[in-house]
Amino acid sequence: MNSIYAALPTTIFEVMSGLARAHDAVNLGQGFPDDPGPLDVRQRAADAVITGWNQYPPMMGLADLRTAAAAHYHHWQGLDLDPEQEVMVTSGATEALAGALLALIEPGDEVVLFQPLYDAYLPLVRRAGGIPRLVRLEPPSWSITAEKLAAVFSPRTKLVLFNNPQNPTGVVHSRAEMQLVADFCLRFDAIALCDEVWEHVMFDGRRHLSMMALPGMRERTVKISSAGKIFGMTGWKVGLVFAPPELMRVLGKAHQFLTFTTPPNLQVAVAYGLGKDDAYFEAMRAGLERSRDRLAKGLSDLGFPVLPSAGTYFLSVDLAAIDPSLDDEAFCLDLVKTHGVAAIPVSAFYAEDAVRSVVRFCFAKHDATLDCALERLARALPNGI
Ligand code: PMP
Ligand code: GLN
Repeated sequence: MNSIYAALPTTIFEVMSGLARAHDAVNLGQGFPDDPGPLDVRQRAADAVITGWNQYPPMMGLADLRTAAAAHYHHWQGLDLDPEQEVMVTSGATEALAGALLALIEPGDEVVLFQPLYDAYLPLVRRAGGIPRLVRLEPPSWSITAEKLAAVFSPRTKLVLFNNPQNPTGVVHSRAEMQLVADFCLRFDAIALCDEVWEHVMFDGRRHLSMMALPGMRERTVKISSAGKIFGMTGWKVGLVFAPPELMRVLGKAHQFLTFTTPPNLQVAVAYGLGKDDAYFEAMRAGLERSRDRLAKGLSDLGFPVLPSAGTYFLSVDLAAIDPSLDDEAFCLDLVKTHGVAAIPVSAFYAEDAVRSVVRFCFAKHDATLDCALERLARALPNGI
C-alpha cells in the first residue's frame, strides 16, 4: 500500500455528514446549499442526456464550453484566454488540483501552502513527491505577511498553492496580500496554482481579482474554477483550468490519464450557464449574503463570537473568546451527537500546530434550516459552553 494514503483518515466532510445522518442532525458541516440550483441549467443537462451526444467528448472539453468559459472570465475578471490553448475542462476542481500537482511537481520540489488548508491539498502534494512548506495563518485576520512568506520561499520552491476566497475561513485575501505572494513567485521563479473556486461567492460588493491579472503573473499562474460552486450544485463535478499554453500542454497530459473527460451533458449545461446574465450572479450573491447575515446574527445573539466572512458558504466562530479550554473537535462531536447540529472543526485543516478553537458553519441553507440549527444551538449552550 502507499504509505501516504494508508495513513490518511477519512475526510472530515464525510465523517461529519455521516454523524449528521446517524444523529438526525441539521447539517451545517459539509458545504452544500439546500437550494437545488438553477432550473434552466439543470434542464439543459437533462435535455442533453436525452437528445445529445453521450459518448466521449473531446479530451480538453467541449469547444462550446471552452469558448463560453473564456468569454465568462473576460466579462467577469478581465482575463484574455485562448479557448483552444489555455482552457481545459476537468471532472471537478479536485481533479484539476490533482492533475496540476502531478504534472508540475518533480519529487523533492518544495510547495508553499497556507494553513488552514483545504483538506485535499496536502496528501496530493505529498503523493506527487512535493515537500510541503507551510505558512500558518491565525484568526481573526488570517493575514499573509512578507515575514511569513520569507520563512518558506527559497530557490527550491516550485509552486505555491493559493486559495482565494479561502475555505474554510471565508477570508478574501487583499490585493496587497496577493501582490506579496506574486512578488515571491516572481523572485523565486515559482508557479502560482490558484484555487479560485469561490470566485463568484463574495459579499458586500467585493469583486474577484484573479492572480492571473497581476502584473507578471499571467505566464506563471494556473487558475482553477468549479461549476459546482459557480452554480451552487456541488455534485456537478465540472472543473475549469486556465493556464498559459506551455503549462497547459503538460496539464493536459495529467488529465488524459486521470479521467480523460467529463460527462458531456454537464458540459453542455455549464456552457449555457456561464452565459447567464449579471442579474443571476448578483441574485445568487445577495441570497447567500442574506443567509450569512441571518446565521451570523443568530449566533452572535446566542453569544458566539463570529468571525467575519467575506466569501464562500462559510462563517466561523472562535470559541477561545468564550472559554480558552474549549476544543473545536470535542465541541463539534458533542454538538452533533447531543444537540443535533453538524459543523466542522477548523483544526482539521491544519497539518501541524493547529488552531483548535475555531468552528466552521455552512450558511448556504434555507432560513428554516438555519433557524432550526440556531434553536438547537441555543439548547446546546448550558451544556456545550
Ligand atoms: N477547492 C476548494 C477550496 C473547495 O472548497 C472545493 C469544494 N468545496 C474544491 C476545491 C473541490 O471542488 P470540486 O467539487 O469542483 O471538485
Ligand atoms: N468543499 C466542501 C466543504 O468545504 C466539501 C467537499 C467534500 O466533501 N469533499 O465543505
